[in-house]
Amino acid sequence: MTNASTPLQVAKFGGTSVADFTALSQCASIIVSDPTTRVVVVSAAAGVTNRLVELTQADLPNNERQRLLKEIAAIEYAIVDQLSGSEIRAAVDALLTQMANLVDRISHCTGDQLAPLADSLLSIGERCSSLLLTQVLKQLGVDAVNFDVTRVMRTDGHHGKATPDCASLTLNALEQLLPLTENQVVVTQGFIGADDEGNVTTLGRGGSDFSAALLAEALGASALAIWTDVNGIYSCDPRVVVDAKPIAELSFSEAAEMATFGSKILHPATILPAQRSQTPVFVGCTRAPEQGGTWIRNHCESRPKFRALSLRRGQTLLTAHSLNMLHSQGFLAELFAILARHRISVDLITTSEVSVALTLDQTGSDSSGRSLITEALLEELAPLCRVEVERDLSLLAVIGNHIAHTSGIGIRVLDAIGDSNIRMFCQGASAHNLCFLVASSEVEAITNRLHARLLN
Ligand code: ADP
Ligand code: ASP
Ligand code: MG
Repeated sequence: MTNASTPLQVAKFGGTSVADFTALSQCASIIVSDPTTRVVVVSAAAGVTNRLVELTQADLPNNERQRLLKEIAAIEYAIVDQLSGSEIRAAVDALLTQMANLVDRISHCTGDQLAPLADSLLSIGERCSSLLLTQVLKQLGVDAVNFDVTRVMRTDGHHGKATPDCASLTLNALEQLLPLTENQVVVTQGFIGADDEGNVTTLGRGGSDFSAALLAEALGASALAIWTDVNGIYSCDPRVVVDAKPIAELSFSEAAEMATFGSKILHPATILPAQRSQTPVFVGCTRAPEQGGTWIRNHCESRPKFRALSLRRGQTLLTAHSLNMLHSQGFLAELFAILARHRISVDLITTSEVSVALTLDQTGSDSSGRSLITEALLEELAPLCRVEVERDLSLLAVIGNHIAHTSGIGIRVLDAIGDSNIRMFCQGASAHNLCFLVASSEVEAITNRLHARLLN
């Protein structure tokens, strides 16, 4: 733990915040303005990880591969061109050569070799960003150091969505990272880690928020700041509801529900380490820090009945039918064991006498972007049950307080849904949410109606 008299803040900058030289300069001025910011976690520049994900496909046509490599190089060199010194150019050259070599190896590889190579390739975006931001800071006279997070972020070996080992991370971070913060600003990478053998792993898409929260917990930080492209957390994604309102203060529980139910602004796992370590989290806009943002804390003054709407696209509904379910024991245990073996985390569940319906979250799946429902999974399920799969669904969650114990909420929600078809409706497990599944084509209209009725 850090000494209370020397507070240390962790700041995380997302993809748009490190997209170009101007954006990196804005990050630098935020870092400089608060001397307690000693650890900085960066994402890949906007658009880089998406391209790297495409490049992980072994069967990509060569011309596509070349186009993507050039586009990534153009993003990184546009920043290098604004920096002085030949060393930074040489360092970026080396990373981009490594990227091209990995892509070449992926194009010749099959089976189990692919996942570790893919994670090494995906790490290039974050590695470039941390190099570049370190250089921007150095040019402003800040004593900054680029730190390879794989030295401390120990994970299991599950490529694409590795699970961090918090105890090892804490030991490593206190030993190897914390001492550097006394005299330097440490710039490091989000999203990536390494297994026991030193193979690079990734934490799943959008994982840099999670990395930053884990580092803040490990270092006993006094606060975690998530700098992004909006000035805080809104009552709904402002891209979906134009008159969504910024929220000044949120409790950990509300924020955790929002993140879990798809408010892309925070990776779903971000709040857990913050809540465990009671680290307050600030969310603000890199381009306009003066506008303030949202504070997420253990206790907050207001506890409104309706706080926000979260929406998660890319949901799949899997319905398993089996007459064996009737009056039998162990059917669900068997079904869940198979899903667990395929590393599928089940979200919502409803059951009837002979069937069980589950939602699977494609957006929360691994870094590879591959479909969750594979032939291997369906083959393993076939002897147990008949499976029906529906795609293109979206999950809409109403987040608030005392939802499970307030009468009249259901009718207001159903009224806003109107005559659209609801594929699943879940309420009861949490006091903070009520959620339902609808066709993705209808979700924006329903969200706007619901927002107007509950949150305006
Ligand atoms: P970063 O690259 O900084 O991690 P993300 O794109 O992952 O940024 O997250 C920021 C985006 O999250 C915003 O541009 C916004 O569209 C979206 N978003 C989703 N839900 C919310 C919400 N409730 N409040 C604010 N932004 C939200
Ligand atoms: N660069 C990674 C992604 O795009 C991680 C992150 O941005 O948080 O998913
Ligand atoms: Mg993000």
